Amino acid sequence: MAKEKKAEAAPEPKKAAGKHPNYVKCTVSCACGNTFEVYSTVPKASVGICSKCHPFFTGKQKLVDTEGRVDAFRRKYAK
Ligand SMILES: [Zn+2]
Repeated sequence: MAKEKKAEAAPEPKKAAGKHPNYVKCTVSCACGNTFEVYSTVPKASVGICSKCHPFFTGKQKLVDTEGRVDAFRRKYAK
C-alpha cells in the first residue's frame, strides 16, 4: 500500500524553459541517395547507412566496405 501511495505522489517532470534544445525538422541524406526527415537539433545531417539500404531492412546481404578497409590496413603495414 505504501508503494501505491508513493507512485501516486510522484511529481511530474518539470520542463525547464531554455534548458531544452530546439528541435527542428532535419533532412538526413544517406550515402545510398535516400533522404528522410527526422526531428533533430540540427537542420541537416548525413548518414552512411539508412533503413532503405541497411541489409536488415532490405533483406539483401551487402558488405559495407569491410574488406576494403582490411586490405587498406594490410597494405599500410605490409612493409
Ligand atoms: Zn541508405
